[in-house]
Amino acid sequence: MRLQINGWTSKITFSATHIIPMHAKCGRLHGHDYAINAVIEGDMGPDGIIMDFISVKDFLRGVANELDHRVLIPKKAKGVRVKDDYVYYKVGDKELRLPECDCIMLDITVASAETLAIFVMQRMLEKVKFPKNVERIEIGVDEGRGQGAWASQEL
Ligand SMILES: [Zn+2]
Repeated sequence: MRLQINGWTSKITFSATHIIPMHAKCGRLHGHDYAINAVIEGDMGPDGIIMDFISVKDFLRGVANELDHRVLIPKKAKGVRVKDDYVYYKVGDKELRLPECDCIMLDITVASAETLAIFVMQRMLEKVKFPKNVERIEIGVDEGRGQGAWASQEL
């Protein structure tokens, strides 16, 4: 069986700015409305549920709040450095200079929907306790409605 959490209807959303280096259009600083979706697969327990997914929703809302109204900075990217409360991000032949307080530094190499899905998945595996009957989880990060990237993990 599968439990599905739709980020748009569950209000697990955030608005953020990013840039995708080496990409003609997305290589310019721009923003999206994002939503975080989840799927939890496993057998139904004797209590008639797979798991109480309120803890998953609360966790995902927390992540969305953390990312909301920030510039998403991939701190593992080669051209990123922080100095005197500013983030410098070299993208091709330009360099962005952004107040650090407006940014969130993420442990990824590029701030794409794909890497954000993996980031949320890894964080969820660290923070959320899943019962033994849960076999597989998926996290989907939508960049606008109807387009997103999904990461999946067997437990
Ligand atoms: Zn984009």
